[in-house]
Amino acid sequence: MEFKIALIKGDGIGPEIIDSATAVLDEIGKRFGHTFHYEELLAGGVAIDETGVPLPDETLAACKASDSVLLGAVGGPKWDNLPGHLRPERGLLAIRQELGLFTNLRPAKLYSSLKSESPLRPDIVEDGFDMMIVRELTGGIYFGEEGRRQGKFGEEAYDTESYGEGEVERIGRVAFELARKRRKHVTSIDKANVLESSRLWREVMHRLAKEYSDVEYIDMLVDNAAMQIVKNPGQFDVVVTSNMFGDILSDEAAVCTGSIGLLPSASIGSTKCGMYEPIHGSAPRMAGENRANPLGTILSAAMMLRHSFKLEEEAALIEDAIERMLEDGFRTKDILGTSTKTPLGTKEITQKVIEYL
Ligand code: NAD
Repeated sequence: MEFKIALIKGDGIGPEIIDSATAVLDEIGKRFGHTFHYEELLAGGVAIDETGVPLPDETLAACKASDSVLLGAVGGPKWDNLPGHLRPERGLLAIRQELGLFTNLRPAKLYSSLKSESPLRPDIVEDGFDMMIVRELTGGIYFGEEGRRQGKFGEEAYDTESYGEGEVERIGRVAFELARKRRKHVTSIDKANVLESSRLWREVMHRLAKEYSDVEYIDMLVDNAAMQIVKNPGQFDVVVTSNMFGDILSDEAAVCTGSIGLLPSASIGSTKCGMYEPIHGSAPRMAGENRANPLGTILSAAMMLRHSFKLEEEAALIEDAIERMLEDGFRTKDILGTSTKTPLGTKEITQKVIEYL
């Protein structure tokens, strides 16, 4: 099969980690008879330097015409003082909106060989954990009515959380369908004891839970969920929640794995074109030094194979190769943990992944 991938290398370590991901994709292509065509596009700080804007029109048009977008990272101190609408990150929000990417998938998995990296107590992570956070990405309080007005305490500012039934239903379906392919358990997180929008969220989720009766379902209030993630992360399989709760809880879950360089993410919508990127930023201080951990980006490419291209076997092969390589103690410096092996550079660990494939 042939696929057209829009590559946004971005800033800082972006170019190095994207090169790693394409090297692994090309190896997969060779083995399975697929061809990946790459189109390099500008976005972020490099785009500001070359064109004056973080997301040139040509980049957006090429993303829309591609089968998927693979992104390194954008931003860095050089562009920190620009006004909000010109900041490198603005480009990413615009791509998500324009492509209608309403779902953010954030897996948080603790690899058994990296338990010592977790900030959680050893007895809590003894059995590891592997959760998939499904965050609604284009609705809720980040996109609701906002404004300023005069109030009882002087100038007042407000943001509004609002969700429509259809919006909740489509994200709920993503969660239940994913659970069917995993351990068949969904936890829906809300604040239904206080918020009307959460009460509607819960009603819709309950309707879906009846439809997906083969999947076990529970509701959890967000304050309890924040505690449960650090007390007993192993209880979660698929977690589905709103934009803001998902934003906060996915970072909490990520830090519990102890290795942000390893974590991928996917933003997907109703077409097959999604955007795939590691959860970390552009780590400007290690740019160009062959020190960055490319595994989060390589795992993002694996998510692209699974969710956009429906190449499950290929995706699983990459994930399995990385897991076995980590078990054998091959690491980059940021995830060295208890390994006694010399840490590998970006290029060297990429070669190891290819060997393990
Ligand atoms: P960061 O994720 O870039 O770095 C945080 C820490 O993690 C640093 O110590 C860094 O060296 C380390 N780190 C990150 N990725 C690593 C990797 N692959 N291998 C080894 N170590 C890694 O976050 P930050 O320092 O807060 O932000 C730096 C820049 O990145 C900022 O301009 C920020 O706006 C931007 N940013 C971009 C994205 C994105 O593109 N999606 C996300 C977050 C931050």
